[in-house]
This record gives sequence, structure tokens and C-alpha cells, in this order.
Amino acid sequence: METAKQIFKTILTQTEEAIGSTAYVFAFSSVELISLEDGVLVFGVPAEMFKSSIEKKHKTTLEKIAYQVAKITAVQIIVSDQKNATEFFSPQKTKSRVTKEETKEIKKTVAFSFDNFVVGPSNRFAYSVARAIAHNPGQAHNPCLFYSDVGLGKTHLLHAIGNHISINNPTQNILCMSSETFLNDFVQAIEEHKPRRFKNKVRKADVLLLDDIQFFSGKPALQEEFFHTFNVLLENQKQMVFTCDRPIFKVPDLEERLQSRFRSNMVVDLQPPEPEVARGIINKILKEKKITNIDEEVIGFVVDRMRSNIRDMIGVIDRINGIQQIMKKKVDLSLVRQWYADYSPQTHMKQQNTTDEVLSIIGGFYGISVSDLKSKKRQRHITRVRQIAIFLLRESTKLSFTEIGKIFSMSHVAASRSFVKVETDKEIDTSLFEEIEDIKFKIYKKQG
Ligand code: ADP
Ligand code: MG
Repeated sequence: METAKQIFKTILTQTEEAIGSTAYVFAFSSVELISLEDGVLVFGVPAEMFKSSIEKKHKTTLEKIAYQVAKITAVQIIVSDQKNATEFFSPQKTKSRVTKEETKEIKKTVAFSFDNFVVGPSNRFAYSVARAIAHNPGQAHNPCLFYSDVGLGKTHLLHAIGNHISINNPTQNILCMSSETFLNDFVQAIEEHKPRRFKNKVRKADVLLLDDIQFFSGKPALQEEFFHTFNVLLENQKQMVFTCDRPIFKVPDLEERLQSRFRSNMVVDLQPPEPEVARGIINKILKEKKITNIDEEVIGFVVDRMRSNIRDMIGVIDRINGIQQIMKKKVDLSLVRQWYADYSPQTHMKQQNTTDEVLSIIGGFYGISVSDLKSKKRQRHITRVRQIAIFLLRESTKLSFTEIGKIFSMSHVAASRSFVKVETDKEIDTSLFEEIEDIKFKIYKKQG
């Protein structure tokens, strides 16, 4: 019988054949099999960007192949920690895979420490709180809760605290884990009728570092158990640090008494990095991995557009490097722009753009007033920008063609014709494509 791994490999190989090497290497080159059970395949990718890229562009192909290969009826993609991932996995091009030593090197250099955490205004406070905790566990800021959107350095800081303490106070019993592992340990202990085992392990910790506590949501038994653990540890002045992917009050189904404990002392948020900090992080990565041949304008673009999620930003740089090695050709800006177009702003763009906001951004970009845009003036330049505006309104708001038509005093047929025209033109006109992406970025950024 074929093992799950072999099946997964076959699916990947056929997917590569179906979608072509460049697209494959971009989206699939660092994937890990999570599970294959009951016709459901779950696999992990290193960053949100690759997940959305696969979901948007290749999911249908993948599902079809998965069904043909092993009667798989559902494919799920998650962003995983890549513990079992093959770097730049390309089933057909085994020779160009990164060697074991290189992988080791990568693993070693990406260990989370304070030294490799780039500090700037967006994270300085979080960084200094984390350092204070690492220097004085149990005394400074106890408990402490870090929160932010995904990919902004929470896990990095949490592990940096753990690593620092374990080096400087080797006798300290440090328990550092994801809340998911924490839950699994708990469930296992209960199932084996050894609840004490779990209690003892957790309550013996000198330092408890729990990642992603939003995972406690809707798990009342775990919350109950943890409530008591928390009290015991705090009473004994044991350091506790938590991370959460949102403000704690936004975690649904989390008991009030536990919420109030999580936020009872220091609560710190991390913000997306400023451009200089983002650039600093990328420079560090380039240096660590000895990457020298990525075009400057490509790096600039990635930093500019993707720094709202550092993990994605690093993931893309990694991927560009991987593709350049495997395909033996340079990745240029236009290709990166295309990936970006698949990923964002649609993914990120919130749906509540107002018409006037969107129109004023477009008008500003082309130097045309909003009233001219809405007018019936027929100068060529204005007509063209009007078409672009129709396209972007349709893409960035929930307006129908009838509603859009009304804004410009035209029929829904005329509005949809303008939309189609721009949609087609931008596929062959690179500068139009780039202008539209730039405007989308401005629209997205405006909403912060
Ligand atoms: P989160 O836990 O908030 O989702 P992570 O801590 O996993 O985010 O960070 C995502 C990636 O970005 C990691 O590879 C991490 O090392 C890196 N990273 C985040 N912030 C920084 C920083 N300030 N300096 C260097 N690397 C960073
Ligand atoms: Mg994390």
C-alpha cells in the first residue's frame, strides 16, 4: 500500500506537470504533509501568501489530481511551522534541491533570539519588555501578553525569551509551547486517565511560554484547568508569557475570568514594521542565507508591499531565491508583481471602501478631479481614467454595474463594457497592469 507521503509526492509531481515549473516552484516548493485521512489531504505552506496563491490559482487542478491519484475528496491548506518541510521541494529536480548541510545552516540561522530581532518604533516596546522578562523572569511584567496580527514577531520574541533564560539560568524549568500542543497534552493525559501527569508537568514550570492562546477559544475544560494552573504559577511568582493573534477581548468563547487574568499585568502589541525596519529584516535574511542576486527593485517592491506580514515578506524573498536557484534565471519585478496581484490587495482589501475614497485616489493618481471623472466629458484621457475607475470600483467595492453606471451617468451595459475593456487591456499592457496594482495598493493602504 502506498504511504501517505508517496501519495502526496505523486500529487505534487502531477501538479507540477499540470501548472508548469515556475508556478509550481513558487507556490509549492516548501510544503509539508500534515495528514491524509478519510479522503482528506491537509498540507502546510510556510506563509499566508502561498496559501492564497494556491487557493486562488491551483486549487481546482490540485483537487482534480488528488482525486485521480487517491480518491481524495477534500484538500486543506494551512500555514504551518514547516518542521517537516522539504526546502524547495521539487520532485522532478532532485538534483537542485538544497543539500542537507545547507538546510541545517538555514535552520541554525533562523533560531529565534534577541540578537536577530530587528528593532524599530513598531516593536521597540515589545522588544524591551521581552528583554526585561528574560533578564528577570517572574519579576518584571508578570504575566505578559503580546498580541498582533499574524507574522509580526510574537513567536520570535516568545522563543527569544525562552532561549535567553535557558542559556543564562540553565536550572530553570522552561515550558515553551503552542497552545495547540498544550491542549493535546491535556487531552492525552485525560484520555490516559492521568490528569495528574499534566498538572504536575505544567505546575512545575518556572517559566511558562504559551503561544497563540486564541486557541483556548471554545475549549471550556482546558480553560477551567488552565485557570487553576495560572493561579498556582502566579502565586509562586513563576513567569508566564502569552501571545495572541488579536486583542484578548476579541477571542470568542473565552471565560471572562481567564481573559482578565491574561491581561492582568503587561499587555503589548506589535505593529507592522516601518519600511526601514522591514528592510533591515530582509538585509539580515539576505546576509544569513548568503543571497546576493535578487534585484534591488524586487527587494524594494517586496518590502514596500508585503511588510504588513513579516513572515510573508521573508517567505517571498526565500521563494525568489529558491526559484532563481532551481530555474537558473532571475526573477524580475513583473513576475513578483503578478504574484502580488494574486495575493493582495484583494486578499487584504476590506470591502467597505467608499466610492469617493476610491475615486479620489484614482483621480489623484492620474491628476484628474473627481467631478471630471463623474462628468460626461469625453476627452480621451478622462474617458480612459473613467474606465479604469469603473474597473477598480468593481474590484474594490461591492457595487453592482448598475450602481457603478449611475455614478457615471451611464447604463450598466456601458459600465460592464468599460470593466471588461480594462480587464483585457491590462493583460497585454504591462504599464496599465502596474498602474492598476499601484492604485490598488494605495486604496488598500488608505484603510490601514
Ligand atoms: P507571529 O508569531 O507574530 O505570527 P513570528 O514570530 O512567527 O510571527 O514572525 C514571523 C517571521 O518574521 C519569523 O521568521 C520571525 O523571525 C520574523 N520576524 C518578525 N519580526 C522580526 C524582527 N523584528 N526582526 C527579525 N525577524 C523578525
Ligand atoms: Mg506565532
